[in-house]
Amino acid sequence: MNHKKKKQKKSLSMRCPNCGGTMILRSADGIYRENPNHTMLYVCKHYPECDTYIRTHPGTTIPVGVPANRKLRALRNEAHHYFDQLYLSGIMGKRDAYLWLADLLQVPLSQAHIGYLGDYYCREVIKESQKLLQRNPAHNRCSGSPSLRGGAAAL
Ligand SMILES: [Zn+2]
Repeated sequence: MNHKKKKQKKSLSMRCPNCGGTMILRSADGIYRENPNHTMLYVCKHYPECDTYIRTHPGTTIPVGVPANRKLRALRNEAHHYFDQLYLSGIMGKRDAYLWLADLLQVPLSQAHIGYLGDYYCREVIKESQKLLQRNPAHNRCSGSPSLRGGAAAL
């Protein structure tokens, strides 16, 4: 085998965590309402019956996490919203926030990403972030509902 250190452009072979179907790399066109950034997704081959996908890091075939269905995507968006407030509100720096997340999830910093999370840990992140935010009300400028920012809606 010839392991070159070339940038991998081949799509990864991945299975749908919800139905076991193959995940197919394709454009988000037709799945996102709009796709101005030409986002690429791994989409379950049983889409739309199985509404499961994950986006890639821009310009790569590397998924940003574990594929999720609609319900989990919404939960991850909510978790990300509250988690982001930890550093956006100035309670802690961004790096500290990720260290805090790694500690909460009991994973190395490199794996401390909301995109990897399932239902349980999303709820933990929401709960623990809210606790911190409530303890620091002076910093808590954002109390609205989770906003679905363009890219983040596509976790
Ligand atoms: Zn599926």
